[in-house]
Amino acid sequence: MGVSDERARRIAGGKFRCSSCGLPQDRVPTLEQDWVLLEPELTVLAHRVPAEYRWIALPDGRVTVYGVCPPDPFQRCRIEHRLACAAQSLPDLWPWLTMVRVENGRKAERQESEESTRLRQVELPDAG
Ligand SMILES: [Zn+2]
Repeated sequence: MGVSDERARRIAGGKFRCSSCGLPQDRVPTLEQDWVLLEPELTVLAHRVPAEYRWIALPDGRVTVYGVCPPDPFQRCRIEHRLACAAQSLPDLWPWLTMVRVENGRKAERQESEESTRLRQVELPDAG
């Protein structure tokens, strides 16, 4: 979650321009002595964001991941620009949902091959 140089270019006013889409991002220090590029002027209710992607501001201006589960229903958080960037693909936000999608992909493949087998069996008597 650290700032990678190829994804950010410093612009005037201490902001950083996203090298993927060109929009400005807020470069904010984290509690872990690192930096994170946050989407400017956007706060979201924490429960709408996966726990490991919620950033909340501390009184000293740094931010930290708000991993409390279940989150306070009124807690708001910030998100990284890369999640909101139209030019970057989304990371695996919900691993359990990705597993469901992978499993459904396998099911769909199996169903397709079973159906094509059944079709061949139906066609065989007519073929003769
Ligand atoms: Zn971007």
